[in-house]
Amino acid sequence: MNYKALLAASAAVLTLAAPQSFAQDAKAPAPNDLLNATLWMQNSVEYKAVTMGLFQLAKIRLDEALADKKWTAVPDKESAGYEDKPIAIIADLDETLLDNNGYQASLVTRGTSFSSKEWTDWVNAEDTKATAGAVDFLKYADSKGVKIFYVTNRTKDEEKGTRANLEKLGFPMGGNVDTLLTKNEQDGWGSAKENRIAYVAKDYRVALLMGDNLGDFSDVAKGTVEERHAFLDKTKDNWGKTWIMFPNPEYGSWESAAFGGDWSKSEEQRRQDKIDALKPWTPTK
Ligand SMILES: [Mg+2]
Repeated sequence: MNYKALLAASAAVLTLAAPQSFAQDAKAPAPNDLLNATLWMQNSVEYKAVTMGLFQLAKIRLDEALADKKWTAVPDKESAGYEDKPIAIIADLDETLLDNNGYQASLVTRGTSFSSKEWTDWVNAEDTKATAGAVDFLKYADSKGVKIFYVTNRTKDEEKGTRANLEKLGFPMGGNVDTLLTKNEQDGWGSAKENRIAYVAKDYRVALLMGDNLGDFSDVAKGTVEERHAFLDKTKDNWGKTWIMFPNPEYGSWESAAFGGDWSKSEEQRRQDKIDALKPWTPTK
């Protein structure tokens, strides 16, 4: 290789190696804490394969529950004679049965964060999609006479849009029973869900709890990181059996636990608290 060719080759290597386009470009995208999680949930085959697998597992567990009258997902909330009650599933909506990644992606592309007003607009646009595998599973459960209760922290103002959206997607809606239990719909129904779970268990044998957040299973979700892990240990036989957890790397009580649930902290402080919560390996020099 002559000198000129060598120079040209070196320049080509430099061009490939240097991140020159962003270094010199004022429009380089800003770092965004939501980007990878949203890309994974909206675009990846991997996420869809996980939820499809979880609904397959749920179908197996539901069949087991139908065959075993003593089976219940909430033994602490069932009353005497529960074995002979009609059967129900309690499922969360957002990021369990419903896929809000259009909304999450818009937070990333606009570089903004959650706003309850925009969220209500999103909900009332009735364009939320179903999680991969959700509709087939719910139709199967419905065909077996199982009532599906949607226990959601969507609010009363969002109930009409949510109901229309669920109907459009083909979710079973419970006939003359109100199966869409929104936050604050009744006294005592705050964001913690155990009151609503107990409300369903009064009249039904609850076969499964399904959610993407510890709060869909227990009010312990609002506790410290240590309390949450102690609860996990105590309930280890439930997971994958009567309780089915869906992945959500975008948001949830796992995130707020890292900064003590204190949303009044600045975004920078919350990010620092999350970094401080990591247990890093220190490489030897
Ligand atoms: Mg959820």
